[in-house]
Parts: sequence; C-alpha cells; structure tokens
Amino acid sequence: MIVLDILCDSGHRFDGWFASSDAFREQCQRQLVQCPHCQSTAVSLLPSAPHVRRGATTDPGGESRAPALPAAPAAQLFQALAQIARQAENVGTRFPEEARRIHYEEAPARNIRGQASAGETMELLEEGILVLPAPVPHEDEFH
Ligand SMILES: [Zn+2]
Repeated sequence: MIVLDILCDSGHRFDGWFASSDAFREQCQRQLVQCPHCQSTAVSLLPSAPHVRRGATTDPGGESRAPALPAAPAAQLFQALAQIARQAENVGTRFPEEARRIHYEEAPARNIRGQASAGETMELLEEGILVLPAPVPHEDEFH
C-alpha cells in the first residue's frame, strides 16, 4: 500500500491510497482518481517527495504486505510523514537520481527527500521505486 499526496487543478490537496504504483497509474489513466472536494479528475502528484525505503518491494503478484503506515486519522498520518521527511537526508534536486542509485544499490540505503517533478515521480514509480509525495513542513522547520 502506498499513500500519495495528490493535488487537483483547483488546489485541493488530498491523500490517495493505492495498492501499488501500477494501480495508481492505471486509475489515473482511467480518470478514477478524483478530487473528493470538487470531483475534478485533473490531478497531479505533489512535487515534494520523501523517498521511503521499505524492506520488500511490491511483488508482482499484488498484495504485498509491506509494513503499511498504521491506520490513523489524517493529522497523525501527516505527522508521521513529516517525521519521516524531517529525518530523511535532503538531496534536493538530485532526488530522482539518488532514489535510483539507492534502488539499484549503488548508494547506501536510507530515506531521502528532495524535489522531483510529477513526471519524474511517475518515472520512479514505474521503475518500482517507492516514492511518497508527501506534505512537507515549511523549510524553516528543517534548520
Ligand atoms: Zn478539487
């Protein structure tokens, strides 16, 4: 299960839960990802994306039982993600490159955060790299 932070074209932000990155891509293509506030299907992933490494990658068979974030109210979820983001190494605009290096074990495994465009995020998801576009606290909280 992955949680994606999604933005609609009217600026509403909401969480989307998907079984896998494939499920997300398919639902996007079929315009099934809909803003709960205005029903717009013109949605995009938020660009700021902490990368969360988990032990197991999604197995092609489907229901991989990755240690999902516990069921929690949105506020707690937000805090959990913010916590991950705060502890993650900030690699800035090298995020897509660094996420790939970690995925292919060319760099030490760790959580990283940084900037990636929606397109870059989708590319990473397509390569099976778990990326969580997540709400990130204001930059000044990182000092
Ligand atoms: Zn909306």
